[in-house]
Amino acid sequence: MNILILGSGGREHALAWAVKQNPKTDRLIVAPGNAGIAQLAECAEIDILSGATVVTFCEENAIDFVIVGPEAPLAAGVADATRAAGILTFGPSAEAAKLEASKSFTKEICDACAAPTAAYARFTAPAPARAYVQAQGAPIVVKADGLAAGKGVIVAMTIDEALAAIDDMFGGEFGAAGAEVVIEEFMTGEEASFFILTDGTHALPIGTAQDHKRVGDGDTGPNTGGMGAYSPAPVLSDAIATRAMQEIVLPTIREMARRGTPYQGVLYAGLMIENGQGRLVEYNARFGDPECQVLMMRLGAQALDLLLACAEGRLDEAQVTWAEDHALTVVMAARGYPAAYVKGTEIRGLDALPETSSQMVFHAGTRAEGGKTLATGGRVLNVTARGATLAEAQARAYAMVDAIDWPEGFCRRDIGWRAL
Ligand code: ATP
Repeated sequence: MNILILGSGGREHALAWAVKQNPKTDRLIVAPGNAGIAQLAECAEIDILSGATVVTFCEENAIDFVIVGPEAPLAAGVADATRAAGILTFGPSAEAAKLEASKSFTKEICDACAAPTAAYARFTAPAPARAYVQAQGAPIVVKADGLAAGKGVIVAMTIDEALAAIDDMFGGEFGAAGAEVVIEEFMTGEEASFFILTDGTHALPIGTAQDHKRVGDGDTGPNTGGMGAYSPAPVLSDAIATRAMQEIVLPTIREMARRGTPYQGVLYAGLMIENGQGRLVEYNARFGDPECQVLMMRLGAQALDLLLACAEGRLDEAQVTWAEDHALTVVMAARGYPAAYVKGTEIRGLDALPETSSQMVFHAGTRAEGGKTLATGGRVLNVTARGATLAEAQARAYAMVDAIDWPEGFCRRDIGWRAL
């Protein structure tokens, strides 16, 4: 079949890498793609936020299946447009993707199905929000309702910090995303990510992961889009995962269906784990990046069969064949990231690295030019390996990192420390 993947990051490189291994794949196009993706798929420069453009492209290229990578096209209704045009699509409708795009919507769903999550209140004006914070005290968490690329959440350790966050949000710092503000109880525990495929009725867990958000070793320094990840996450034990399915995930899926907006795609539940229970921190409507890279490395070619079963509403027939293995990815970023960084520096040594089913360098922000690979983003490479143990996966990933010649890049040296 002919398959189109939308996106241009390490997540989409990993999806393309897994999909490409499946014999069902005839032609694979990624839009817009990147230099690493171009080595295994065709890349097409189209506006992936326009449903009409994507539909026309699918018709012109006889695309049988569309996989939507990032949240922006989902929130823009691209999956609605392709499905309406009769094209099989993996990814939720814009209405269902509100589970990621609106934090107050997610809270409403949690209320409706009694899913464990932080206590909260919603505000559309600063004065009552400020009064609420004064009454609750700190630490407390202030969140812009809408999508803010991970920057719209302030975990305030003091009342003053929370008040400043409220003023910033209502002051327009996050544009329309901050028109409504959710203020939450601060939850303690350890965070992990739980990934579930659902076709709107059936649900299939496809793995757990943990990522490292801070830029520096020992989880220090400013927050980033993620500096590395590993799967499985030992803190999210089978017992906790089973409980989270019963208490959070299945009730959410039923509630979305009851409302006439069934959720189809991957549901990424961010959980805070404490005392044998996970509480919901957030939902995302797509695979995490870089968590997708470790999930795809563990799933391999079967990922396409699972995504197809999801899109076709046959998840009850699907199952995951697990190797009892571990995968770990190290993000290499441009020096300076997450603040200002230089673009266009050359990365050498990639060609000499063997790419196998157990080790891959996924590209997140690269461009090919005159036979060279140039860094174009903040997070640039996802150096990914698997092993029989997490320690083995880690050693293999760092051996690859050490073979990459990129003086203008850096990475954390301790990915996986929490689990090792
Ligand atoms: P991202 O895009 O980075 O996933 P987001 O904007 O969707 O973030 P959340 O995931 O809701 O926002 O929050 C970001 C981070 O803030 C969480 O990963 C968690 O570490 C912390 N956080 C959020 N809510 C709470 C809470 N109630 N208690 C403690 N920490 C929280």
